[in-house]
Amino acid sequence: MRLLFARVGVPYSPATGLPIESQTVSQMVDRVVDFGEGTRLYILAPIVRGRKGEYKKELAELMKKGFQRVKIDGQFYEIAEAPALDKKYKHDIDVVVDRVVVRPDLTARLADSLETCLTLADGLAIAEFADKPLPPEETAAGGSANKSLNETHERVLFSEKFACPVSGFTISEIEPRLFSFNNPFGACPTCDGLGSQQKIDEALIIPEPDRTLKNGAIAPWAKSSSPYYNQTLEALGKAFGFKLSSKWTDLSDEARHAILQGTEEKISFHYEDGARSYNTTKNFEGIVPNLERRWKETDSAWAREEIERYMSAAPCPACTGFRLKPEALAVKINKLHIGEVTQMSIRVARDWFEVLPSHMNAKQNEIAVRILKEIRERLRFLNDVGLEYLSLSRNSGTLSGGESQRIRLASQIGSGLTGVLYVLDEPSIGLHQRDNAAARIRCATCATSATP
Ligand SMILES: [Zn+2]
Repeated sequence: MRLLFARVGVPYSPATGLPIESQTVSQMVDRVVDFGEGTRLYILAPIVRGRKGEYKKELAELMKKGFQRVKIDGQFYEIAEAPALDKKYKHDIDVVVDRVVVRPDLTARLADSLETCLTLADGLAIAEFADKPLPPEETAAGGSANKSLNETHERVLFSEKFACPVSGFTISEIEPRLFSFNNPFGACPTCDGLGSQQKIDEALIIPEPDRTLKNGAIAPWAKSSSPYYNQTLEALGKAFGFKLSSKWTDLSDEARHAILQGTEEKISFHYEDGARSYNTTKNFEGIVPNLERRWKETDSAWAREEIERYMSAAPCPACTGFRLKPEALAVKINKLHIGEVTQMSIRVARDWFEVLPSHMNAKQNEIAVRILKEIRERLRFLNDVGLEYLSLSRNSGTLSGGESQRIRLASQIGSGLTGVLYVLDEPSIGLHQRDNAAARIRCATCATSATP
């Protein structure tokens, strides 16, 4: 599956939702020639895209290299006459590398010009149609979001890398390890590929909301005999209008939020521990941030474990539980990323892979034909041995004995191992009569297909 995504997956930009494709210079030239003879084009190198700065040095350097014209924030200028740019604003600067009228015999010059663009603009090039101005409402000046100020005319963006020309989102290389959460190259950096994060769970802090504060409503504080906690609550109660005898359920939302998440404003606290008493005015940290901080900072395994009693696993916010980095989840086949495909049950996946070829182009099909054949065969077999209800992402540690036995059988038979006699004694764990029959049929198919 990883191999399949690496070979025929198409990366989509998370910013625009559009596919991003890498192209060779000759593919770009072909595309430009396809615009038709007589098309007037600017070949541009987008060197600055929506960034703040004055760019004096960059412009001077371009002039030294022999470039004459630039397009800045929607206007063409001779570089020598370019206006001074306000460094507080974002700018767009394209270098005019060439002006051409498309002809079939122009390929060598186009290749040169595009090559120059790619070097200047870090892998990007633009062909802008000189005679196709955009209607004002489709330009950045007319309020269209996500567009460069320079996008005043229809244009085609080329990229030699997998890079979204709008957001700059790049995928260096698409290879199988990008799709493995066990590999640092593919794992979600936020949760290290675990898919979930331990987070303080408010429901575990207040397990019995019917209790009063005095009577231990706040679980992490309930066991302590120190007067500190009650004195803290008393001070908060003065500020937010509750008493120690109040039940958690009777507290206002504001009071609950202050206790759990802390306060922006400063609160006056009065503390007495028998030996001394003192006053202090500070904002309250909040129980949740306090536990989170101590959990991160502590060196004591005991303290960490103690805090973990109030934590539960929440899906990682970055990968929403798919365990892979955004670059991997941006790569899709027939609208789905690999995480969504592995979530399918074996039955659904079998159907999805069965019709997949009709959703791919000829080139993708040619590349994928062998991988697909193997995937489909395994899915069909897993389906035949009665495991159609399992999801592909199911952790092998959570399988029953019978389930894992069937999977082992499926992978051995799927690998085309021959000369092995399977003795399915009665009753083989988890293998039911119907499955034995299915398995036998499969063995037979394997044997016949393997013998010349
Ligand atoms: Zn994650």
